Amino acid sequence: MAVNNVLRNRLNVSGRLVASVLLLGATVLAGCATNTMTGRKQLSLVSEESVARQSLSYYSAMESDARKKAKLITSGPLKERVDAITNRLIEQAVLYRPDSRDWDWRVLVIDEPKTVNAFCMPGGLMGIYTGMFEKLQATDDEVAQVMGHEIGHALAGHGSEKMSTRIAANMAAIVLAAAVSSNVKDFNNNQSALLVGATAFVTLPNSRETESEADRIGIELAARAGYEPQAAVTLWQKMAALDKGSTPVFMRTHPSSEVRAQDLQNLGPPMAKLHNHALANLKEKPPYDWLQGPREQRPSVDPSQAIALYSPAWERFVQGEVELKGNNVLAYQAQKGSLKGAFEKSQWRDLAVQVMEADFRLDLNYWYLGRAALGLGHAQAAQRYMGRAFELSQTEDGACAKRTFVGCAGLDVKKLVEETR
Ligand SMILES: [Zn+2]
Repeated sequence: MAVNNVLRNRLNVSGRLVASVLLLGATVLAGCATNTMTGRKQLSLVSEESVARQSLSYYSAMESDARKKAKLITSGPLKERVDAITNRLIEQAVLYRPDSRDWDWRVLVIDEPKTVNAFCMPGGLMGIYTGMFEKLQATDDEVAQVMGHEIGHALAGHGSEKMSTRIAANMAAIVLAAAVSSNVKDFNNNQSALLVGATAFVTLPNSRETESEADRIGIELAARAGYEPQAAVTLWQKMAALDKGSTPVFMRTHPSSEVRAQDLQNLGPPMAKLHNHALANLKEKPPYDWLQGPREQRPSVDPSQAIALYSPAWERFVQGEVELKGNNVLAYQAQKGSLKGAFEKSQWRDLAVQVMEADFRLDLNYWYLGRAALGLGHAQAAQRYMGRAFELSQTEDGACAKRTFVGCAGLDVKKLVEETR
């Protein structure tokens, strides 16, 4: 290559590099979304639907492989036991994520007595290995914790998050490669190739953050389904006690720590309350068979009644004790459209969560809290929030109608507040 060309190439490289890095940054920023179930911001470069589609092909391959090797347990007491536990968990899961009612819920029982593992791919595609029973001697309560934890990953959208993180990392590498090579076509080809790899769910370790989220969701699903919360602790103890030389797959992909045990202990009292409540209300009739039953006969779930995960903040909301103190107009500007959206769609849980997160002292926001509380059947709390909304509507700095750059989201808040007080 002539010296001139080398020089020209160098210049181009740095230009392309800057452009590529900017593109990468923009893509990552645009791909951040708040998960309404957990309230956490997640990287989402791939949609949950597309990850679920990817997962289905991987899952089908796993299933036929297991069948070919005569490892698939499709009937008998063990399969029935797993199905019964899983159905009780799904019955709860759909209450947190009503859209998951239409998921492709399935569970494979794979006869690998040495494999201590279980999984739930996006879209409800689950599996459990017989090692859970043979090696770990897991009780029903413990199986419920494992499956609940796995369902928690799926409900919280960890599959698409993991995939997105992977893509972002790969994109960074490819962006560099593309910037250095002059062949930008490679970049586009590689990008679609990156979307392949549903294996990630079973092989890539989960982050500490997603792990504790899945723990939290799992223990709550299990408690509401009538399974002992303490089993979450004994389960991890059993895992840890297994022979060091044969660390269960589950432990490798699910980093354990003392933090986990501590988290689970802290969740103990509120979860015990949910568990006792579930035991007192345990229905005679088993839940609907989500795994085998016809889809059109599944129980309907009202999206406006989506329930919230336990948290001290949510408890305060239910008690009518939320205090909005913030006054950051700029931050509020960015969030108010999303509040309006939740209100218009009657997504009461999401509305309440978002108003608490936005934390902006305004009559409109107290009215939103009141509306959400009313929608979820917390009449007393609703009354308190409506009262606060009325008080603020009488002030200069708390009335949306009187604030510049804030606005009332096109609602006649003063009138609404007077009506609903
Ligand atoms: Zn996990």
